[in-house]
Amino acid sequence: MKSKHHLHTQLLRIGSAPFDEATGTAPVNLPSVRTSTLRFKNLDILDALQEKRARGERVTTYGISGLDTHRALEDAINALEGGTYCVINSSGLASIHLAFMSVLKTGDHVLVSDNIYGPVRVLHDTLLKKLGIEVSFFSKQDNLEKLVKPNTRLLYVESPGSLLMEMLDMPALSKFAKAHDLVLATDNTWGAGLLYQPLNLGADISVIAGTKYLNGHSDVMLGAVVTNREDLAEQIHATQYALGNSVSADDVWLTLRGLKTMAVRLEQHTRNTQTVCEFLDQHPMVSRIYYPAWHKDPGYELWQRDCHGTNGLISISLNCSPEAAKRFVDALELFGIGFSWGGYESLVQWVSPTVLEAHSYWTEQGKALVRLHIGLEDVTDLIEDLTQALDAIETK
Ligand SMILES: *Cc1c(COP(=O)(O)O)cnc(C)c1O
Repeated sequence: MKSKHHLHTQLLRIGSAPFDEATGTAPVNLPSVRTSTLRFKNLDILDALQEKRARGERVTTYGISGLDTHRALEDAINALEGGTYCVINSSGLASIHLAFMSVLKTGDHVLVSDNIYGPVRVLHDTLLKKLGIEVSFFSKQDNLEKLVKPNTRLLYVESPGSLLMEMLDMPALSKFAKAHDLVLATDNTWGAGLLYQPLNLGADISVIAGTKYLNGHSDVMLGAVVTNREDLAEQIHATQYALGNSVSADDVWLTLRGLKTMAVRLEQHTRNTQTVCEFLDQHPMVSRIYYPAWHKDPGYELWQRDCHGTNGLISISLNCSPEAAKRFVDALELFGIGFSWGGYESLVQWVSPTVLEAHSYWTEQGKALVRLHIGLEDVTDLIEDLTQALDAIETK
């Protein structure tokens, strides 16, 4: 159901508790509705529900797919992504797995952009290979017409890409996918629905890690798969059911709570990141900033055309060896050393040159790459911290 309200308003209203008929009051928020199963008043009621379900209606008869709390988060994610069907999952990676398993069978071939989230390669090595699903990684420079095969079924991409934030041309990819009857699926964790809506740009499936900005408080693992296509939704629902994944209502509730402030959090992440970029751009140790919203980034034009905003995730290359960059990372005090991003706090990740080898977009061989998540701390403190840590590279 499309709402007349702006997205920010919708995010505040979805998940409101209904009034109690007897008292005429309601708590502001839905409670976390925890249950492993349901009770039915009598068998007629159960039969009627089963019939509705068979007709494809969204009816719950068992606890695995959750109750009201889950439905509210599905509505919120659909609103964000411009989707009709949403399946919530236990993590972002589990959602990527679900998307792959919903579309593919043994003997199929997948085209995967080489800028994708690293663990997708582990999914390939440990599961897809074993299942006889063939994967080709491609770069922006490759001619996809030459890589597509008669058994290619899925085009799986990420924009902006993990680590180097490389923007892809989603409408062009969609055109290509349609011409070759491929399903176009994309990881939209960066866009969080609010910044980028791949389904509106022609993607068939959007996968999102709620672990990052949706929840925003670094205390939940959660993901979702979203689509507008009924045929794909049926496969995604059936596959999720068969895989037996389930998400706790409390984690769903925390994500709904996080969503209420996502828009303002992103605005503050963006302000801080802009200031940090201006500082880094002037620093002699910094070779390049990888951030599509930065005017010098090669993806800036695509970002302006396709995105509605940006966030706090940047990578920087440093004019030193990867080994020397470890001194920078260790010297940082406000940036925690750790994976992930999208929470309220600043984080830093040293990127191994071996990992970068798989990314064709990386051309600064010999230099160091560090990923920063710019958090909600006071930006003056962050810049002071970055200044002293950059100085530490020089001092042996
Ligand atoms: C973190 C991340 C994921 C995986 O999410 P988890 O919930 O940690 O499994 C997927 N894609 C991207 C781009 C990510 O950054």
